[in-house]
Amino acid sequence: MRRTVFNEDHEAFRKTLRAFIEAEVVPVYGEWLAAGQVPREFYRRLGELGVFGIEVPEEYGGAGEHSFKFQAVISEECARAGVTFGGSSVHVALCLPYLLAYGTEEQKKRWLPGVASGETMLAIAMTEPGTGSDLAGMKTTARLAADGTHYVLNGAKTFITGGVHADRVIVCARTAPPTAEDRRAGISLFVVDTKSDGYTVGRKLDKIGLKASDTAELSFSDVKVPVEDLLGEEGKGFSYLGQNLPQERLGIAVGAYAQAAAAVRFAQAYVQDRTVFGQSVASFQNTKFELAACQAEVDAAQAVVDRALEAHDRRELTAADAASAKLFCTEVASRVIDRCLQLHGGYGYMNEYPIARLYADSRVNRIYGGTSEVMKSIIAKSMGL
Ligand SMILES: Cc1cc2nc3c(=O)[nH]c(=O)nc-3n(C[C@H](O)[C@H](O)[C@H](O)COP(=O)(O)OP(=O)(O)OC[C@H]3O[C@@H](n4cnc5c(N)ncnc54)[C@H](O)[C@@H]3O)c2cc1C
Repeated sequence: MRRTVFNEDHEAFRKTLRAFIEAEVVPVYGEWLAAGQVPREFYRRLGELGVFGIEVPEEYGGAGEHSFKFQAVISEECARAGVTFGGSSVHVALCLPYLLAYGTEEQKKRWLPGVASGETMLAIAMTEPGTGSDLAGMKTTARLAADGTHYVLNGAKTFITGGVHADRVIVCARTAPPTAEDRRAGISLFVVDTKSDGYTVGRKLDKIGLKASDTAELSFSDVKVPVEDLLGEEGKGFSYLGQNLPQERLGIAVGAYAQAAAAVRFAQAYVQDRTVFGQSVASFQNTKFELAACQAEVDAAQAVVDRALEAHDRRELTAADAASAKLFCTEVASRVIDRCLQLHGGYGYMNEYPIARLYADSRVNRIYGGTSEVMKSIIAKSMGL
């Protein structure tokens, strides 16, 4: 079916990005995987190319676009080439919207030019060693100092994407204890300078996939956070998370769809090339049926993400819509990638083949941004259950 979700501008961006990935990312991607992160300069290069500034308003050095579809193009092109851009989707697709929505004029002037250029990399720290799905249970605290000039931050976070490279981290912390009526009350967001005294980047975590993305533990010991770095109003952090998580989940849904589509392409090329019992793997009826079934699942996932992208650009995507898209597309990706790996035989298990990396990279889609079980809870609640 003809796809109608992208316009000429999106397609022109796709063309430029595809050429850039082929020329500047694919040749060095193996080195990034071995290093466990992308080089810091690469983020500046993305900034130079305008990739980080797409949604940054023009007065702060960006292009002032309002469409999330450009982020979808980035996900699709990375998956197609079998690469990732490290923590860059967290920087621009997850963190930037918080600064745009809740930052004051003074904060935007201070941070957005660096965000667009890649000089100031962002990460977001919600998850703690003791709490992930149940964010209201977070223990990190930020107490306002007696003289009212700064907060004092204490606590620990884990699994923070981009946590090694980040210059500023949006930290969720308790500024007041939960109330008897509302466990979510008393949470605030701070845009913390990672060079502050008492701010420590702990281990870079060893993951089964997403090897080019730095994922870190963070700890805060009496970190002084100036009151000017509080984002939005004190105590409203949970509602801010609630408003931004649907976009994060849509981003994961799009990425999962794109990975599934890429898996089918990789498998299709492989089975045409590989000969067993004197015939190509593609010639077996089982191979044709497997790939046809996978393609049908990919088509369904594409319909879901396209509809969700349109709804999001119209500012109509609900929390349940995003949860449903994430649940469906990430489960499709897991099934499709597994079946496509099977068609590669033993080579599919070797990291040098992109299908092997996709298998490991895609597994986390059903966990981060809220697990599949949490997505089901959100959908069930919207059904009145
Ligand atoms: C690679 C990676 C990158 C990440 N990046 C970030 C980041 O940048 N920033 C950040 O803040 N976090 C990040 N995370 C954390 C991620 O969002 C959490 O791992 C996720 O939300 C799940 O939390 P948890 O790991 O504590 O699992 P838990 O909450 O302990 O869940 C354990 C199991 O219990 C199930 N469960 C939980 N609640 C329910 C329920 N109500 N009903 C039924 N089952 C339930 C879960 O589905 C899961 O199967 C990242 C994680 C990974 C792996």
